[in-house]
Amino acid sequence: MKLITFEYEGKQQIGVLSEDGRTIVRVCDVLGLPADLTMTEFIQRHGEDDLAALKKASECAGTIETRAVRTLSPIPRPIHDVLCVGVNYASHVEETRHGLKDQKFQRPEKSIYFGKRAVEIQGPDAEIQGRFDLDEEMDYEAELAVIIGRRCRDVAPEDTEECIFGYSVFNDLSSRKLQRLHKQWLRGKSLDGYTAMGPVILTRDELPYPIEADVISRVNGEERQHSNTRLFLNDVPGIVSDLSMGMTLEPGDIIATGTPAGVAMGMDEPKWLKPGDVVECEIPPIGVLRNRIR
Ligand code: MG
Repeated sequence: MKLITFEYEGKQQIGVLSEDGRTIVRVCDVLGLPADLTMTEFIQRHGEDDLAALKKASECAGTIETRAVRTLSPIPRPIHDVLCVGVNYASHVEETRHGLKDQKFQRPEKSIYFGKRAVEIQGPDAEIQGRFDLDEEMDYEAELAVIIGRRCRDVAPEDTEECIFGYSVFNDLSSRKLQRLHKQWLRGKSLDGYTAMGPVILTRDELPYPIEADVISRVNGEERQHSNTRLFLNDVPGIVSDLSMGMTLEPGDIIATGTPAGVAMGMDEPKWLKPGDVVECEIPPIGVLRNRIR
């Protein structure tokens, strides 16, 4: 089931895409909830019965045509900074060493985790304002996002599946010069607008666990990244378990699981993003997240 946050007639709402994707069934209509319910509020309060009712409703056409709405990020305002994994594909180690100009950078023994501030997350219909005045080295990173579904702590890897609500496509847009200059990655990852996610959240019941899916990016139609989540150095059960050890994860928390090789930083002559570029990140079972840079 694909859940969507959208703007229709000036109001932000949440819904489920019908099976053919052409219409939207509003969550509030099916479950008798307030029309302004947000995705985070829904994730916080949902039960299995709610998901079953929505799934059934999505088998019929909804009341709103998908083409008539503006699709927002499924979670436009996260409850916390996004939890990110740095360098989670072996193929990305070498280009990170190159990009950070740090010859000592090696494949990490333990996962690198960092926080990414996103006051607002951009959806697939948003243009992203590059801050080229601060850093002209703007880069893309296609990633699988994991959305936490229940409050959890100290979870063993084998028990992580039930902590997850679903998955989305994530672009961890990065300012490489700031990332390099400040050593810690937070500032280079957190400029306003440099987080995009969407177009939907795919509920976890739709895929075997742990998820195996292609992760692809294109810039102006040219393929830049193409890998698969089975090549993770630390898989989703490992990441969720690691992060939950001694740190409470809450419903609506977002984990960005790392990007494969092919970012601009790794190129001998980096093709940094520039105004007018169109970046597409795709994970086929979930969809395509497309943004124009301005
Ligand atoms: Mg990343």
